[in-house]
Amino acid sequence: MSDANKTVKEKVIFGKEKNPSSIEPKKLTLNSYLKFRCHPGVRCFTACCGGIKIVLTPYDILQLCKRLEIPAHEFLHTYTIPTYLEKTDMPGVMLKLREEDNKCPFVTPEGCTVYTDRPTACRYYPVGMADFHEGGSRDGEGNEQAVHEENFFFIVREDHCKGFEEDKEWTIGEWRADQGVDLRDEMNREWLRLVMRRKSFGQQATLSEQAKRMFFMASTDLATFRRFIFESSFLDIYELDEETIRSLKEDDVALMLFSFKYLAATLFGVQTLKIKEEKIREKVAQLKTRQGDAVEQSIREYEELKAEVEAGKKRIEGEDSTGDR
Ligand code: SF4
Ligand code: SF4
Repeated sequence: MSDANKTVKEKVIFGKEKNPSSIEPKKLTLNSYLKFRCHPGVRCFTACCGGIKIVLTPYDILQLCKRLEIPAHEFLHTYTIPTYLEKTDMPGVMLKLREEDNKCPFVTPEGCTVYTDRPTACRYYPVGMADFHEGGSRDGEGNEQAVHEENFFFIVREDHCKGFEEDKEWTIGEWRADQGVDLRDEMNREWLRLVMRRKSFGQQATLSEQAKRMFFMASTDLATFRRFIFESSFLDIYELDEETIRSLKEDDVALMLFSFKYLAATLFGVQTLKIKEEKIREKVAQLKTRQGDAVEQSIREYEELKAEVEAGKKRIEGEDSTGDR
């Protein structure tokens, strides 16, 4: 294991930073070739597991909690620190590095202790993926094929990484399949899209504190999000069929994917969820009542003003007639 690097770099999951020197300026496809191999025999083994910022996706958190058999709140408290996602005001978490050596809490000299459940960013490294549609211009469902066609890849080549000196050559597609990133891509897609959509809005619009809290809760703590669905007025408001309700109760992945739809609807007004007809009618009635009240109030104020003006006129006429005498 090499020395910990105190400068914090980032294992990329959101796509390309503008000009980091470690990124090769070459757009690659799934068929491009990569000469690389990472294994316990490389001189630098686990060098990339320290001095690094590893942002976690909701699916990463879900899988790590299962792996460690602890609830999300305990995982968040023990293993993560807060961060903002992709220079937006959206709150997320990253792995908390060990104080003593500035390394990932899951690394040992033998390697990664959560390897089969390691985060997305660790699986991507050293091949990043960027989206031609970065900025969230695509809405709705994207299929895997389409996503692959619209993405390109790039190599992050850092001096400490000796994997590039190894003999193994494969296509980016083969390498990604070996790292199990396809499932991660699918699980993370809508969440990444929320962040990129937020980023595309720039600084002009800010999320309310309530919206930020909701985003954080839904994307980091599914147990709390489930309680929110089943213990608030949520099911009175949204139109959900029995099958969906059952899956939200029992299936964490279904709940996570649903949370992305909910966030897209509430944060960005995307038509992903249907509000019950009677709730819409109630809201319209409330608005009408409010409008009606406002009109009545204006009429009352107008009448009061008119009465005051009339009274003023009479007073002046009275004073004039007194003056004449
Ligand atoms: S989770 Fe595993 S692969 Fe990722 S940085 Fe930590 S030890 Fe390394
Ligand atoms: S070869 Fe690269 S990816 Fe593998 S341990 Fe070394 S630095 Fe990390």
